[in-house]
Amino acid sequence: MKLRILKILSFFLFIQIIIVSVISSFPGFIEHYYSQNFFLMISKLQHLQLFWIPFSVGDLFYVVIVFWVIKWFIFLFKRKFKPFRLIIYQALAFVSVTYFLFHAFWGFNYYRNPLHVNLNLDPDYTTEELTEFTCDLIQKSNLLHSQLTAHDTLAVDYDFRKNELQNLVFETYQEFQNENLNLRYPYENLKSSMLSLPLTYAGFSGYVNPFTNEAQYNTLVPKYKQPTTMAHEIGHQMGYAKENEANFIGAIVTMNSKNEFIRYSGLTFALKYSLNDIYLRDPELFSIMKDDVNPGILKNYMEVQLFWEKHRGPTEFIMKTIYGNYLKVNKQPDGLKSYSYVVALLVNYNKKYNLYQSTQTINQ
Ligand SMILES: [Zn+2]
Repeated sequence: MKLRILKILSFFLFIQIIIVSVISSFPGFIEHYYSQNFFLMISKLQHLQLFWIPFSVGDLFYVVIVFWVIKWFIFLFKRKFKPFRLIIYQALAFVSVTYFLFHAFWGFNYYRNPLHVNLNLDPDYTTEELTEFTCDLIQKSNLLHSQLTAHDTLAVDYDFRKNELQNLVFETYQEFQNENLNLRYPYENLKSSMLSLPLTYAGFSGYVNPFTNEAQYNTLVPKYKQPTTMAHEIGHQMGYAKENEANFIGAIVTMNSKNEFIRYSGLTFALKYSLNDIYLRDPELFSIMKDDVNPGILKNYMEVQLFWEKHRGPTEFIMKTIYGNYLKVNKQPDGLKSYSYVVALLVNYNKKYNLYQSTQTINQ
C-alpha cells in the first residue's frame, strides 16, 4: 500500500481514539443513534448475509488474519525490520482499520445506557429481596428438575443431537414476547465454533465476532450449559455488549422457554448467580439455602465445573487476562466477575415486571 495512504490511516487511528473517548461520555446519544438505530440496521444486514452459511465466516476470517500476521512477521525478520518507518505505518494502519470496523459494527454498544436505566429499574436490592427471589427460584428449579429426572439426586441428562439445542434456543427467542426488551431475532445466525478445542483451553463457552456479528458456541462444553451460552451470545448479537447484561438477557429468555430443558438451564443459571450473591452477603444463609436445592441440580453445576477444571491450563490464564483487559479498555472494570449486577437486574426486573411473564402457568 502506498505510504501516503498508510500515513492517513495511521493518523486516523488517533482521531478515532479521541472521538470514541468523547462519545463514550454520552450514553444516551449512543443508545438512541447507534444501539437502537444504526447498529440494528447494520447487524440485520450482516445476519441476512451470513445466517445461511453453515460455518462461521468470522472464524475463517480470524484464521486467515492469524496466518497473514505470521507471514508478515516472517517477511519482517527476513528484511531485518527495514525500513522501520514503513513497518510502523503498516502496523498502525492495520490497527486503525480494525479499530474502525470494531466500533462501527458492534463496539459502541459498550457505551450505551446501562440496561437498568433503559428498563427503569433500581440498581440495588436488599438481602431480604434477594433471599425471597432465590427461595422462589429454588422452588421452581426443584420442581422442574423433578419432572426431568427419576430421582432428585440425579443430574438432568441432555440427550440432544447436533444442532437440536441450537434450534430450540432459536425457537425460544422467536416465542419470547416482551414489551420492555426489544429482542427480535429473526435469523438464526448461531454457529458451532470451528475453534471449540482452543476455545475450551482458553476457558470460553462462546463468543460473538464483533466484525461479522456471528455468534459461536463451544460444542465441547456440557450440553446442560449450552442453551444459556447460546442465549447469552444472541444477547450480545442484539447489541447488549456487556457481559452481565448479556447474562441477564440469556437468563430471562431461557427461563421463559416452552421447552423444559432450555427452561431448566435458564432457571438454574439464574439460581447459580443468586446463590453466589447470597454467599457473598451471608455465607451461613447460603449453606442453609443450598441444602434446599435438589442434589441433582448441584450435580449439573458440578458437571460444568469439572469440565473446566479438566481443561484448565496456562492458556486459560493468558486468555482470561487478555479478555479481562479488553473489557477494562471497553470500560467494564468489573470484567468477568460482575455477579451482582446480573442479580440486580433479575431481582428488580422481577419486582417491577415479573420475570416469568411469558410462562406464568408453565413455571408455577
Ligand atoms: Zn459474553
